[in-house]
Amino acid sequence: MMATPRHRKRLGWENAPMGPQQTPLTTDGDGGLVFSGPCPRCMGTFSRTYPAAIPGSTKGVGSSGGSAKPIRVLCECGVRHAGRPDVEKEVGCGAHWQVDRS
Ligand SMILES: [Zn+2]
Ligand SMILES: [Zn+2]
Repeated sequence: MMATPRHRKRLGWENAPMGPQQTPLTTDGDGGLVFSGPCPRCMGTFSRTYPAAIPGSTKGVGSSGGSAKPIRVLCECGVRHAGRPDVEKEVGCGAHWQVDRS
């Protein structure tokens, strides 16, 4: 059996870019992609489904016709990490990272 990483629930909230992560995505059978696994920062596990196409996300991206943009995953581990700003609607540690669509 693989050891389950311990969720670091007492880690303080921080807007922490984690960069690209090698997290495998699975499909939900309906064209969407599913992230499922631990947050690389707080080790809390969660799963989230992303639609196949994300409309209107052209901000800062200069490439044309690129349909394989990495998915930006935001930690949604379900724990209120200390210091989380009220404006943040997602409950997590504030880490975010990119996962390549494959
Ligand atoms: Zn986290
Ligand atoms: Zn967490």
